[in-house]
Amino acid sequence: MRATIMHAPGDVRVEERDKPTIQQPTDAIIKLVAACVCGSDLWPYRGADSLNKPAAMGHEYVGIVEEVGTDVRNVQAGQFVVGSFFASDNTCEICRSGYQSGCVHREGVGGAQAEYMRVPLADGTLVTTPEMPDADKIPSLLAASDVLGTGWFGAKAAEAGPGKTVAVVGDGAVGLLAILAAKQMGAERIIAMSRHAARQALAREFGATDIVEERGDDGVAKIKELTNGLGAHSVIEAVGTQESMMQAIRATRAGGHVGYVGVSHDVELPGLEMFFSHVHLHGGPAPVRDYLPELIDLILRGEINPGKVFDLELPLDEAAEGYKAMDERRAIKVLLRP
Ligand SMILES: [Zn+2]
Repeated sequence: MRATIMHAPGDVRVEERDKPTIQQPTDAIIKLVAACVCGSDLWPYRGADSLNKPAAMGHEYVGIVEEVGTDVRNVQAGQFVVGSFFASDNTCEICRSGYQSGCVHREGVGGAQAEYMRVPLADGTLVTTPEMPDADKIPSLLAASDVLGTGWFGAKAAEAGPGKTVAVVGDGAVGLLAILAAKQMGAERIIAMSRHAARQALAREFGATDIVEERGDDGVAKIKELTNGLGAHSVIEAVGTQESMMQAIRATRAGGHVGYVGVSHDVELPGLEMFFSHVHLHGGPAPVRDYLPELIDLILRGEINPGKVFDLELPLDEAAEGYKAMDERRAIKVLLRP
């Protein structure tokens, strides 16, 4: 089968690999219907994450179950499934409290930018759709697998809701879908921080009421200006750098909440400033599995259309071009068809 392998920063190739097989009785093998390139795939692509050996890429997926292990009960061959980037048993105490991405048996899921992939803990990880979804729902269901679920967690962790002013730092797919999530949760005002016209337009479509183009301290000043000098109630951080994290914390009012979902890279928090800020911080890898049933339902009922973040679609064989387009910010998010 064909699979996307990253050999070194900037070096992504689609190569022939062995088709994955069942290794544990709790595994499933799925045939990918669509996959995509994640903003977090750009960290190793840009050399910000080290790569010790060639890596099979991709952790966002929708597909059709091909085969299941002998202990799998909830999914069967032929079903359409959506999963998340961490496999979880969905039964342990941590899973039952809504933190499947912190499952005591959690395991990374990888190699989704391929024709087939192996999903561990299939019963806990995969969610089936009631029937084979229409082709036009595939991009949105794929978005639910990571970027929508992650934006959703960001909004939830930031306690977005009725009466709240929400600010979003980061205009990648996660930031944009955090806007959609905040809107669904009933936020009154949503401020998107973006200086990119196409992304601003999508932000507005997803529910942003205001756009702030300034960054860093200037961005913070602008948010304060828009909120009677107080800062936002809820700020979602969807980048993962020191600058974006401090921008999020400083744009939050005393007593407010930051939901941070950008994968943290060398971020260090100043203790004394945190002490006097009265800001709540919550974040991490999103428990996407917890939200999947609700997100799938919203998508299939046509209430949300998160698939709009995909502004470039390529055949799997052109994955390298997909990485390049996202790296150069020519595309918000790239969908790959195996
Ligand atoms: Zn668990």
